[in-house]
Amino acid sequence: MRAVLSIGSNMDDSWAYLDLVAAHFTDELVNASGVYSTPPWGGVEQDDFLNQALIVEVTEGPLELLRRCQALENEASRSREVRWGPRTLDVDIVQLIDDTGAEITSDSEELTLPHPRARERAFVLVPWLDADPHAKLGGEAVVDIVDKLDRDEVEQIRLVER
Ligand code: ATP
Ligand code: CA
Ligand code: CA
Repeated sequence: MRAVLSIGSNMDDSWAYLDLVAAHFTDELVNASGVYSTPPWGGVEQDDFLNQALIVEVTEGPLELLRRCQALENEASRSREVRWGPRTLDVDIVQLIDDTGAEITSDSEELTLPHPRARERAFVLVPWLDADPHAKLGGEAVVDIVDKLDRDEVEQIRLVER
């Protein structure tokens, strides 16, 4: 199963938290995007985020992968206080593709796939395209989805150097 992960941080040593995730998935990593500076999404006043997309090939099922993502958030001492507020580390599963190449869908609250807000978020889609220029979401090319987003929002997603 191939997974597209969107990871983000805007507290403490954000670079180190992104590195923690990449290190965890080293053996399963297919590709990693660059790291992007992105404005906060969802209306809470807070610092900009660092965001990155990782494409990983894993052998376990969707819920097991979700548990690993949550364990990484816990390792980063993630607390959940304000919805869409500041956090040390967020690891979201954007998309899962099964071994036949089909997109896995899931409707539960615990795991919704593809991620229900991914297509509205330049901070998810721009790094994803960096990691996989041919990416598709719900049968549509991600590059076309990005084209329909607000231009200013897309332009605020900036590749950064360490
Ligand atoms: P958003 O989901 O809008 O990006 P968030 O990342 O801030 O918001 P969290 O507090 O990190 O939200 O997660 C809330 C719950 O979302 C988690 O407990 C998890 O079970 C659930 N969830 C549902 N679908 C997914 C998914 N595709 N990836 C990660 N978590 C998911
Ligand atoms: Ca998220
Ligand atoms: Ca999350």
